[in-house]
Amino acid sequence: MTKASLTPRSLAAQAMGKVDPTTRGVVPPIHIATTYLRDEDNGYSTGFVYGRPDNETVREAESVLAMLEDARAGALLFGSGMAAATAVFQALDPGDHVIASRVMYWALRNWLLTEATRWGLNIEFVETDDLSSLKAAIRPGETKLVWIETPSNPLWTITDIEAAAGIAHAAGARLAVDSTCASPVHTQPLALGADIVMHAATKVLNGHSDVVAGVLCAREDDEFWQRIKTIRKMQGGILGPFEAFLLIRGLRTLHLRQERQAASAMALAERLSAHPMVARVLYPGLPQHPGHDIAARQMKDGFGYMLSIQVTGGEAAAVRTAANVALYKRATSLGGVESLIEHRASIEGAGSPCPPDLLRLSTGIEDVDDLYDDLDEALKAGA
Ligand code: PLP
Repeated sequence: MTKASLTPRSLAAQAMGKVDPTTRGVVPPIHIATTYLRDEDNGYSTGFVYGRPDNETVREAESVLAMLEDARAGALLFGSGMAAATAVFQALDPGDHVIASRVMYWALRNWLLTEATRWGLNIEFVETDDLSSLKAAIRPGETKLVWIETPSNPLWTITDIEAAAGIAHAAGARLAVDSTCASPVHTQPLALGADIVMHAATKVLNGHSDVVAGVLCAREDDEFWQRIKTIRKMQGGILGPFEAFLLIRGLRTLHLRQERQAASAMALAERLSAHPMVARVLYPGLPQHPGHDIAARQMKDGFGYMLSIQVTGGEAAAVRTAANVALYKRATSLGGVESLIEHRASIEGAGSPCPPDLLRLSTGIEDVDDLYDDLDEALKAGA
């Protein structure tokens, strides 16, 4: 059996089979050095020069991530999802036109509106789940980047990655995908034609709510990817070695966690659809979800761990429901082994497409009946 014939699940479980070369320990050590010895001829034959660009533990985590995304050009880890995402926009030139999904992680949308525009980027927000809107907005030769998030936080709209890549490429633009809420277990955007895939590795990739990290994976090692590498190297956005070690540890169980989380999210979506205090369930696994057919095509082994509900009693009932959970944790973030509930509109503020009666649910690995009972009791108490 060769390494090339092994599945991503097997390769991730053993973190690419890497062992400690000194002791043959099955878990490689955490490399913490900030500087490395030069050769006698003054060179750096190991390829390790200085800790800001070069760290072996970070590279080990990157090799697992590049394998999971089938990223020919490799992966680059950053100190947060936002650091990874903003590096892509910083690699553009002033005046470049950018199209971004209107429904996306709110902090990135705010950064694009407030900071990216100060650097001269011309950002246009579009409902990218509607391909005709994307086609109408794209400006051949002028649009340099299409940024989509799918499923998109917190409404879980679905953008057709393959079609969006076709539209972007025909206009001379790149396609970047925030795939945080799909994870490489369910979707591989690069295989569908995307140029760059980004994850907040803080979420399900690490999976234990104890690391803040972000990653970019690229298909082509081109001039744009080199610019992003330079930005990380010069601006010092690299992830720390201890966080990289924890991330590797999390990635070893990614497939197990994801399967369980997606199965539980599907079961919760179905059961909550019949709940009298739930007006609407937003989950791409449900056949009535507007993006279901595309999701069924571009996602495999489930539809992810994130869903939202809109409660019949409106905003006040939604806030009361969140106040009454016992097992769910009332906290922001997503993707951990513990289930989280959050009233998103209170966080996202004015300008957000998030309805006020919406509660976002991140599904963990607890017993799914316990999760349902907790929501059922909280919905009844909140009504
Ligand atoms: N993208 C998505 C979809 C997210 O949900 C988040 C965080 O919640 C981010 C990006 C940003 O990641 P981080 O918090 O690690 O900066």
